[in-house]
Amino acid sequence: MSDRIDIAIIGSGPAGVSAALNASIRKKTFKIFGSKEISPKLVKAHKVNNYLGFYGKSGLEIRDEFAKHLESMDIDITEDKINNIYSMGDYFALMGTNNNYEAKTVILATGVNFGKPLKGEEELLGRGVGYCATCDAPLYKDKVVTIIAYNKHEESEANFIAQVASKVYYIPMYKEEVEVDSSIEIIKDTPVEIVGDKFVEKLVLKDREIETDGIFILRDSISPGQLVPGLQLDGNHIDVDRKMSTNLKGCFAAGDIVGTPYQYIKAAGEGNIAALSAVSYLDEQR
Ligand code: FAD
Repeated sequence: MSDRIDIAIIGSGPAGVSAALNASIRKKTFKIFGSKEISPKLVKAHKVNNYLGFYGKSGLEIRDEFAKHLESMDIDITEDKINNIYSMGDYFALMGTNNNYEAKTVILATGVNFGKPLKGEEELLGRGVGYCATCDAPLYKDKVVTIIAYNKHEESEANFIAQVASKVYYIPMYKEEVEVDSSIEIIKDTPVEIVGDKFVEKLVLKDREIETDGIFILRDSISPGQLVPGLQLDGNHIDVDRKMSTNLKGCFAAGDIVGTPYQYIKAAGEGNIAALSAVSYLDEQR
């Protein structure tokens, strides 16, 4: 069994980073999952004029300040994508792409990059549609698998599954050059619909159709309802109260994922509240 930590923070944008600082100050055991890049949204901002103390700085400069802050406090970001979180009563089981984890509380700070599901995606989820190719690879031994990838990082997932599948199609939804195993067929086209009766049968693209047994859709984030079964939503956002508590005991959320306005300082402030609420919750359980 993995070591059970006090707080698992999912997402390394301003909300997650702020939650991590506060978890550290309150001397709780925790992990922050995401990317050492911190947040793609922060890096992309040309100029930020509304974050306290950083007038006129670029998103990149602020990202570097966040990274320095984390380093000064000896906080390391765990580069693992969390694909599923299950509430087990008094703890949470987290399924990552690289590892599984256990935590007494969870803070969801995943941002809002999940986009609209493809036609047929939700209906066929778990019946050929999945979000983690490495996790489900054994199910696709000698079968045809299609990967729709929104980030170059996902190329390793395609290479991994190519070792067991009979055929892998790779559909890059990003602009960078694709570098995957030579056995993988790269298709530059736009996915439109997933079709299947009981299980996935084919993927309809704008210009062609491909027959496939499985389809992995690898977006930067997973919609909260899919990430945490049983979570109460308010439209596309997670429903929270003023303490950033969700409907699940021990599960908190912060940042863009809980609603507009989408702003750095709001995200950071909510990350702070979520961490302090998780700390109070943990202290009450003792
Ligand atoms: P994000 O910053 O989106 O961070 C979420 C992080 O979690 C990402 O790193 C993601 O990869 C990671 N993650 C997601 N799911 C998982 C998972 N399952 N496992 C592991 N990691 C995961 N706001 C302002 O206030 N001022 C501005 O000037 C401004 N300019 C902007 C310019 C641009 C171009 C854009 C796109 C946004 C701008 N914003 C601005 C909005 C701001 O970027 C967001 O409000 C803010 O980044 C939200 O922070 P967050 O922590 O909620 O989420």
